[in-house]
Amino acid sequence: MSSKADIRTFSAEELTEEIIKLGEPKFRAKQMHEWLWKKSARSFEEMTNLSKEFRTKLADHFTLLPVTENIVQKSKDGTVKLGMMLPDNRLIEGVMIPDEDRSTACVSSQVGCSLSCSFCATGFLKRERNLEAGEIYDQVVLLNKYALEHNGKPLTNIVYMGMGEPLLNYDNVLKSIRLITSPEGLNMAQKRITVSTSGIARGIARMADEGMKFNMALSLHAATNEKRNTIMDINQSNKIEEVMAALKYFYSKTGNKVTFEYILFNNFNDSPEDAEHLLKLYQQVPAFINIIEYNNVEGVDLKKAKSEQRDAFVNYLRNKGVDVAVRRSRGKDIDAACGQLANKNGK
Ligand code: SF4
Repeated sequence: MSSKADIRTFSAEELTEEIIKLGEPKFRAKQMHEWLWKKSARSFEEMTNLSKEFRTKLADHFTLLPVTENIVQKSKDGTVKLGMMLPDNRLIEGVMIPDEDRSTACVSSQVGCSLSCSFCATGFLKRERNLEAGEIYDQVVLLNKYALEHNGKPLTNIVYMGMGEPLLNYDNVLKSIRLITSPEGLNMAQKRITVSTSGIARGIARMADEGMKFNMALSLHAATNEKRNTIMDINQSNKIEEVMAALKYFYSKTGNKVTFEYILFNNFNDSPEDAEHLLKLYQQVPAFINIIEYNNVEGVDLKKAKSEQRDAFVNYLRNKGVDVAVRRSRGKDIDAACGQLANKNGK
């Protein structure tokens, strides 16, 4: 890797300082910022309203390291999965999920993951590093192209639900959200963004204090500590009660309902008793529940729940007045569950 500074790691203020240090007028920093974020420039040469001399100067002092498309998989159902190469030759994944009224991007926040949830293909990959804010941003830009091409509409929603635990890359994730939602960036509404966490209580509470309006989802998948401990190690140090307290705090600060993500696994968390435990959590904080169909993963014992069990589970919740949706698994034919592509490619 180059020893030159990566220009996209600077804040707007830092960028101004750097440009002044190069002996250039302040307004150049504004132009630069626009090229870097609003126009998503992938090289200094592209910045055609800057003089050739200035562009050379920039290239002498800084690097601009965009994420590049590497593998494109298109599912019969319209889902597009992108394997994207980082400047240090590591592979990450992002998915564009088309629907009638929306295009959703699922983005990664880390290369691999340190948490090893037992059902997750990414959990088999060791955590190699955090993604920079610009690398998260690039995924959105690249996936947006596919949203336009394949769904006729730009991205409407972004979920931080790909590889990695976003709250363990707190600063860069927050920075990326600020960039994506800023008028100088992609200008997306904060309420269209959801950060999905495995349950880092401290991180949830900290995000609540950032004065932002994005959504928080909890990958719950089991509604008692006893059961959750067996599939998600993070629950040993962040018990459901602590995470619930953080979610209540998040709601109190943002006014945004929280989402419980609950993958239904056959004979593991799909009984009437499990539904009752889930209901008890739902009743503690204004929330939605997403019941997610599992994409079976090679080498994982947990399997997708049977459709009769799923229907009974969902009906139980509906009859209790729960705001619940079923998310069908998408992109089954293209390994759309995060981590599957990188696993197969030995990254
Ligand atoms: S589910 Fe999320 S937190 Fe758990 S191993 Fe997979 S990527 Fe990491």
